[in-house]
Amino acid sequence: MPERRRPDTTAVHAGRSDLHALGVHVPPIDLSTANPLPGVGTGGDAYEQLAGGGRPDPAHSHVYQRLWNPTTARFEDALAELEEQPEAVAFASGMAALAACLTAARAAGRGHVVAVRPLYGGTDHLLATGLLGTEVSWAEPETVAAALRPDTGLVILETPANPTLQLVDIAAVAAQCRRPGADPVPLLVDNTFATPVLQRPGRHGADLVLHSATKYLGGHGDVLAGVVACGPAWAARLRSVRAVTGGILHPLSAYLLHRGLQTLPLRVRRQSESARVLADRLADRPEVTRVHFPGLPGADPAGLLGRQLALPGSVLAFAVRGGAAAAEQVAAGCRLITHAVSLGGVSTLIQVPAALTHRPVAEGARPDPGLLRLSVGLEDPEDLLEDLAAALNAVSAPPLLSSAG
Ligand SMILES: *Cc1c(COP(=O)(O)O)cnc(C)c1O
Repeated sequence: MPERRRPDTTAVHAGRSDLHALGVHVPPIDLSTANPLPGVGTGGDAYEQLAGGGRPDPAHSHVYQRLWNPTTARFEDALAELEEQPEAVAFASGMAALAACLTAARAAGRGHVVAVRPLYGGTDHLLATGLLGTEVSWAEPETVAAALRPDTGLVILETPANPTLQLVDIAAVAAQCRRPGADPVPLLVDNTFATPVLQRPGRHGADLVLHSATKYLGGHGDVLAGVVACGPAWAARLRSVRAVTGGILHPLSAYLLHRGLQTLPLRVRRQSESARVLADRLADRPEVTRVHFPGLPGADPAGLLGRQLALPGSVLAFAVRGGAAAAEQVAAGCRLITHAVSLGGVSTLIQVPAALTHRPVAEGARPDPGLLRLSVGLEDPEDLLEDLAAALNAVSAPPLLSSAG
């Protein structure tokens, strides 16, 4: 790994150390699906090494894009450096990344997973259905140790969590994963909402740091991707699963993600500042019954802001008087803000989690149907507030007399 620089500098320069020698200023894009083989023997050796999850020998062929791609590897190196992890493995989506982690755990004979709710709806669904042969035990952050079994292969948590923005103390859960007289259970933290700009889970004991790179890392709503930052043993396991099952990230997407990382610190900090303004002002609205945002008073009883999470981030959730029908009206009433799923991009999005992203979650664990989730983008927060105010006014106003005629 290159010498440690400050994170904003790393974001701009990581994964680019060879560019000068190549005589270029931005990374080249390698789209080859197959690579020439210098010989049958060396080609076969390279194939075996890469399919087994190894990194390529510089003198050997990369053989086939499903095994290795240099453009994808550049993004992986950059993200690993930002997360302060030795390696990273990139996938075609966040769910493909999670599926590879579950598959690797199960393949090692440890198919039991302990998971802390709330989680992203897709994650919750994949765990609850056991589609990949895993079995889940749901736990509270304080009851993880009690839920562990000899065949537990992963503990999974998300912080800030989706959609309630609840914070989980990563170090406190990591401590419960280290059992006396047995191997520690690997802890996977979904860091999608915080990004390495605000939180580096590895510092607090996480073994696997997962991102839906579709969100902040890409940041512009035009790339679907996932990535896991981790140590070399897990990276080899994940690359092997990826080579065999085919979930690798496409090099054009990897190029866009690598480019997006350069502005990640700026975007994340500015979006977080705007979200703080919106959270405060929404909390004052009579139509709003509750605002979920880690930066509001009382939202962080464990004091994790500053210690684990540098800033509250730029996703907030708020409940409106009138439940699901009112929430639907607010989402539909926004003009500047787009009613759409996803988050973390430069433009602001609003959605109703119970009806959309968290629809597959079991009834008792599903969010409040009147809850709206807002992902704050880079617009001027005053324009966003005006848009939200107009949508909220329409909910609180008495119904208009039926139009003339
Ligand atoms: C979107 C999301 C995922 C899933 O990622 P995809 O890229 O959509 O497959 C996982 N975790 C969190 C927290 C997410 O927001």
